[in-house]
Amino acid sequence: MENKLIKHPFILEILDKYKVIWSLGHLSALGNWDLSVYMPEEGATARGEALGKLATLSQKLFLDKEFTDLIKKADGEKDLNDYEKAILRMLKRSLKYYEKLPAEFIEEFSKVASEGHIAWKNAKEKNDFSIFEPYLEKIVELTKKKAEYLGYEKHPYDALLDEYEEGLTVEEVEKYFISIKKPLVDLINYIKSSKKFKKEHALEKQEYDIEKMKKLTDKILKFIHYNMSHIRVDVSSHPFSISLGKGDARITTRYEGKDFAKSYSSTIHEYGHALYEIQSHDDLHYTPISGGSSLVIHESQSRFWENILGKSKEFISLLYKDIIEVDEKFKDFSVDDIYDYFNLVKPSLIRVDADEVTYHLHVMIRFEIEKALIEGKIKVKDLPKVWNDKYEEYLGVRPTNNKEGILQDVHWSQGYIGYFPTYSLGTALSVMWKHHLEKDLGKIEDILKTKEGIRKIQDWLKENIHQYGSTYVFRDLVKKTTHEDFSSKYLLDYLENKYKGIY
Ligand code: MG
Repeated sequence: MENKLIKHPFILEILDKYKVIWSLGHLSALGNWDLSVYMPEEGATARGEALGKLATLSQKLFLDKEFTDLIKKADGEKDLNDYEKAILRMLKRSLKYYEKLPAEFIEEFSKVASEGHIAWKNAKEKNDFSIFEPYLEKIVELTKKKAEYLGYEKHPYDALLDEYEEGLTVEEVEKYFISIKKPLVDLINYIKSSKKFKKEHALEKQEYDIEKMKKLTDKILKFIHYNMSHIRVDVSSHPFSISLGKGDARITTRYEGKDFAKSYSSTIHEYGHALYEIQSHDDLHYTPISGGSSLVIHESQSRFWENILGKSKEFISLLYKDIIEVDEKFKDFSVDDIYDYFNLVKPSLIRVDADEVTYHLHVMIRFEIEKALIEGKIKVKDLPKVWNDKYEEYLGVRPTNNKEGILQDVHWSQGYIGYFPTYSLGTALSVMWKHHLEKDLGKIEDILKTKEGIRKIQDWLKENIHQYGSTYVFRDLVKKTTHEDFSSKYLLDYLENKYKGIY
């Protein structure tokens, strides 16, 4: 079938060759998904070997002279449309990565990262940082080296941020965090001094039957999605989403047997990621710009569904009859009770379970630590203390063990340094989308009350964000859709209004 978006003969020629690389990526993604969901533990070595070889093969195909010549040839073309330009932009990004990082370095990094990941799991289980420490030292050393290989203008951490969000810099991230830090600390202090402030909600302790909770997951997804043959849902301790291509988005959720908000939020969060991939334009499939590559935009989608829709009173009302089916005791709680439970603010130790207000401070702590590590201002061996001190300073809580402190996140063990800031930026962007969606369609609570309300929201997201896949980098998409620059203003207004209403 003729591609309506991509027409330039050079680009079509590139895409024809790219399909082989795409296919390898497709199977790697499947291998990774299986590794996290179904693979027996002992399969790790063989899977690591196979994925490593696929990556090497993919790099070889990418660096094939015929292919790189095509990219260079197309790069000189003047009459490319936005989609075609974006395809080149993404290919050149991969090319830069492959050309600047020596093959031995990529192999060493990937080996240290997989060993580090196993060491981290072990260290977390035994609550013993010293098991992970030598691996983390190596990862930090290699990451510094990576920044030098990749190059940067002002700060080595810029090279790392760019891997996760194209063009993002320390300067920008710092400016953003400075803009939100004081207002958030003030809001937290306001909440803590409110008469309604409580450290725990009864539903946090409330146990549930996992099989019944799984039924709720199915009902939620059926309620929010129009075609369930797009999505598969499985279970994993760290929920994630992965897209394998057209019509095949996979998400996972978690069931801990109590505190059902965790499972509920994970499902809706990962669905937000999946929808972005599902609604990207059909003609972008099999290209490097299919789906979202920008982590900030991606997270803006998951957080939009998780927080702005999933934790709203209207949304809870619509699912209420299904929620109380999970457990006889849930029937003791009203819509308002569940709303309070989903939106309970309290400084805590674990980022993934943090509320909308304190969440950003968790991310800020990680950013400051990563930057200092790359600058050589702190040492890996001092991290548990540095971490705990920062938690005490920013959130007023101090971890009593490393499991709830320095060892809680998986990222560093896999070599992901420079990733965390996208969580906070994406969340702030989700509120910007809310503002502009409401400008176009009216208040979300009113849209949800109408017939096909969810569908109207999905269509808006498709029209303004999803259809483009990764055609535009985050700043450009924000400008194109909202006619203004990215700003933290909407996040701060939203949090202030919402939580001064609750507390
Ligand atoms: Mg996410």
